[in-house]
Amino acid sequence: MNIKMVDLRSQYENIKSEVDKAIQETILDTAFINGPAVKKLQNELATYLDVRKVITCANGTDALQVAMMALGLQPGDEVITSNFTFIATVEVIALLKLKPVLVDVDPDSFNLDPDKIREAINPKTKAIVPVHLFGQSANMDEILSIAEEHNLFVIEDTAQAIGADYFLPDGNTQKVGTLGTIGTTSFFPSKNLGCFGDGGALMTNDPDLGEKISVIVNHGSKVKYYHQEIGVNSRLDTIQAAILLVKLKHLDTYNMARKAAADYYDELLGVNPAFQTPVRSKHSSHIFHQYTLRIKNGKRDEIRASLAEKDIPSMIYYPVPLSLQEAFRSGGYREGDFPHTEMLCSEVLSMPMHTELSREQQEYIVENLLKLV
Ligand SMILES: *Cc1c(COP(=O)(O)O)cnc(C)c1O
Repeated sequence: MNIKMVDLRSQYENIKSEVDKAIQETILDTAFINGPAVKKLQNELATYLDVRKVITCANGTDALQVAMMALGLQPGDEVITSNFTFIATVEVIALLKLKPVLVDVDPDSFNLDPDKIREAINPKTKAIVPVHLFGQSANMDEILSIAEEHNLFVIEDTAQAIGADYFLPDGNTQKVGTLGTIGTTSFFPSKNLGCFGDGGALMTNDPDLGEKISVIVNHGSKVKYYHQEIGVNSRLDTIQAAILLVKLKHLDTYNMARKAAADYYDELLGVNPAFQTPVRSKHSSHIFHQYTLRIKNGKRDEIRASLAEKDIPSMIYYPVPLSLQEAFRSGGYREGDFPHTEMLCSEVLSMPMHTELSREQQEYIVENLLKLV
């Protein structure tokens, strides 16, 4: 059985004719930069997310950087974010000479713990960056109310949760990424909405910020060769936008396929003291960018190695807390500072999860996993 963590080949084969046509049209049109598909994708994504403005850019890391530039954050300003996430989130904070302030997560949802955010706030704090990890939203009710109380910006890192619905207190839903000041996302190939290379986007309901962002991503320029501010070169290739226009139509189906696979994993795995299956948040739907178990019997690494012998891939997202990364020594953090994140780094194991995962494959995976715990 050929099981993959992420099976982009099978997914492509199911939409091959549509994708090939979109690529071919872009090549013949030769508008490789800022071509018509880019504008169309921005509009269609804005409609899909029900947000006023979407601006595409070169990748999800740039999206975070541009968001912080657009908000006018200044060197020394403090930005609170999660210790349990991909490095991109803190990398750009540090690159802009802002100060990343890491906080611990809730061990069940893997998302920012609002109480820990409160403890980290001081007069220099300017923004909070919640990361909607593995496909479900952080507690935005709490985060937005903390932000309002302390006059902070909220940048939602939605790289892993595009399309997830946030459950509003009034019973309505709103797409994750559109609740804060700015939302960012990534179209990295393995993300839920992935292109065939790098790509990213920002979304906002503030038209002035939207305008500012579109200027920054294009060399600080609105009119060619007239530059109103220092910007960056961060654009989504037209060819990637054309591919994403095809895939956006399938996003809800893809997310539902992942959710169905997660439900089936839950059912097959059952309840077992040796591990914890993903806890579903009451704040949002879960689009299962990852299906992440917590292995609680201390044998995570052995289990992973034994699964590999059966050609069952699994991954550890993330093996090291950002607070203990070498690149981040200057933060001055020590082991023991973030008990939940440190525990999760030793427990988490993400299982194969993608849109073409078959029930037969899942049965094989779980049968082998259950033999090991
Ligand atoms: C993938 C990812 C990013 C970065 O996106 P790139 O497109 O790879 O630059 C940022 N934050 C999170 C949480 C991610 O998973």
